[in-house]
Amino acid sequence: MDCIFCKIVKKEIPAEIIYEDDKVIAFKDINPAAPIHILFIPKEHIDSVNFLDEVHIDLIGELFLKIKEVAKKLNIANKGYRIVNNCGELGGQTVNHLHLHLLGERQMQWPPG
Ligand code: 5GP
Ligand code: ZN
Repeated sequence: MDCIFCKIVKKEIPAEIIYEDDKVIAFKDINPAAPIHILFIPKEHIDSVNFLDEVHIDLIGELFLKIKEVAKKLNIANKGYRIVNNCGELGGQTVNHLHLHLLGERQMQWPPG
């Protein structure tokens, strides 16, 4: 399958990896939208939130826990940060491998663009 994030999982293309275990990998976004911009993805290919089902419940929990741990390690836990998921065309999803964005070290605005 021609998926850029699967290639990062398989180390076929480089990425600045921040965290990795058997289920999850986190790496710096190539085009950062904030001073801290890290993508957290399941190693398993899932197209988007639309393709989640019950078997993925623990995996999604893991992703959020890892974001919490990395935010603490990067010293942004107390300052605050934003977690984003874009789903589908109108949601602004450009890579069809489910991912959560961790954005930090700047004031976020609401509503988002
Ligand atoms: P989406 O728009 O799907 O929510 O987010 C995709 C994100 O992946 C974008 O922020 C984009 O900059 C990032 N991205 C796309 N291709 C690559 C890549 O090859 N390496 C890395 N590290 N990030 C990428
Ligand atoms: Zn993939």
